[in-house]
Amino acid sequence: MNRTKYIFITGGVLSSLGKGIAAASIGNILESYGYSITIIKLDPYLNVDPGTMSPFQHGEVFVTDDGAETDLDLGHYERFTTTRTSQKNNWTAGRIYDTVIQKERRGDYLGKTVQVIPHVTDEIKGVIREMEGKYEFILVEIGGTVGDIESLPFLEAIRQIGLELPQEDRIFIHLTLVPTMKTTGELKSKPTQHSVKELREIGIQPDILLCRAETAIPDDIKRKLALFTNLRFEDIVSAKDVSNIYEIPLLYKQEGLGVSILRKMRLEQRKDDFEKWENWVSRRANLKSEVVVGIVGKYVKLGDSYKSLFEALCHGGVENDVKVVLESVESENLLDCNLAEIFKNIDAILVPGGFGQRGFEGMILAAEYARLNKIPYFGICLGMQVATVEYLRNVAGLKDANSMEIAEKEVENKIFLKLKELVNIEEMGHNMRLGQFSCSLKKGTFCREIYQADEIFERHRHRYEFNPPFESVLEENGMVISGKNVERNLVEMIELPGHPWFLGCQFHPEFKSRPLQPHPLFVSFIKAAKEHAARAPHL
Ligand code: GLN
Repeated sequence: MNRTKYIFITGGVLSSLGKGIAAASIGNILESYGYSITIIKLDPYLNVDPGTMSPFQHGEVFVTDDGAETDLDLGHYERFTTTRTSQKNNWTAGRIYDTVIQKERRGDYLGKTVQVIPHVTDEIKGVIREMEGKYEFILVEIGGTVGDIESLPFLEAIRQIGLELPQEDRIFIHLTLVPTMKTTGELKSKPTQHSVKELREIGIQPDILLCRAETAIPDDIKRKLALFTNLRFEDIVSAKDVSNIYEIPLLYKQEGLGVSILRKMRLEQRKDDFEKWENWVSRRANLKSEVVVGIVGKYVKLGDSYKSLFEALCHGGVENDVKVVLESVESENLLDCNLAEIFKNIDAILVPGGFGQRGFEGMILAAEYARLNKIPYFGICLGMQVATVEYLRNVAGLKDANSMEIAEKEVENKIFLKLKELVNIEEMGHNMRLGQFSCSLKKGTFCREIYQADEIFERHRHRYEFNPPFESVLEENGMVISGKNVERNLVEMIELPGHPWFLGCQFHPEFKSRPLQPHPLFVSFIKAAKEHAARAPHL
């Protein structure tokens, strides 16, 4: 293996330019050239992790195999590359400071004054270089925008690493925006010039500029940008807007970004294994028919809150040669309304994960509607809890059946209990079940047929678990418990025989779906939606 090379990715001008996807796309290209990579995200905010942040503020919490609650960009890293991330791939300023303060309390600094430079910066350098030697490339994405107060220690740390390493072992890529003046249609280079100036004041000269713009950047603007940012013409890379994020690696490749990175780092192109990705992108771009999936929940309108879910549905769609159109249904609005009207053009219903009481009863109505009308139903985490509570209430006759997350006062039929009431919380280390757990699939079940396996491993993020005494009630009434975690005797999957597709899982399969390895549950679910669309054409 070669010496580890570093690629640092910063962002300028505005936030939300897609640094995460840019990093993931560069990783994708380097893998296609035959190199091993990993990507680290450094987030300058002071929360220790995004686990406690509102989905409105921060979007999805991406969960890794080892149970880390991380930034949603790690989801892009995993979908665009073959790398698997862990807690080591996401650090926030909060976690860095927490470590520094703990060290200070332990006396590790031997009485010295603890300062941002060198103590905080050394800590940051340490977490970046911890994976050195394990990968040929470590890509490091710095969250936030150059100029933010919070990002300064992170930029200082990467500046120092840049100085410590030989020139060909590190490059700095800066992602900026080149806006278009609406009135004249002119592309403006000034914001980028300023952003690079700011970066250079900190001591970082970018090696490559990735310029987001509505259209491809013409050569004269590239020349101007090169002149004012102390770069060569060929180091200004145009990153024009695209409708499909999976096209971005192709776009960068056409712009020569991959080759340029290798040249700067004195490396050869070992192979060019890009065909499968390219084929997938063009297959996706040419989907003729579509299916409509109703997503019933809270904050379903915010695409970022369910990023991995929406991507997994898209992957399942491509595998079935259909475009998946998502229709968000606010579950709160389902009470006292005509469900047949709302669901009339919906080919399948999905109730995703969620927390809290709001909207729960609306989700129950959606699950009941799907069950009675034989519409494919997929319940993920909270969606599985909804489906079992609905079944026990309406089929088994336990009228007050509920999850203890929802029931404000004590009910007799407690179907879902806090994990800590079932297993020793100390042993779990959390009050949530987080990360990958094994699930054994029961012989003869539908889910075993879908997975083509008898044991699977999926990622979790939830607090409540199915209460074991109700397992027999559920099964006597016709619902099948098809997957269990044997070690702790926890219900993982349920299904309804005789229904075209009615399945629930306590875990989040969406975290493991990739374009080239679509998750079997999503592939099967979309196939069922397609069959439903054929049976019940839209009005
Ligand atoms: N709120 C439920 C629980 O904590 C479900 C969580 C989820 O859907 N991720 O168990």
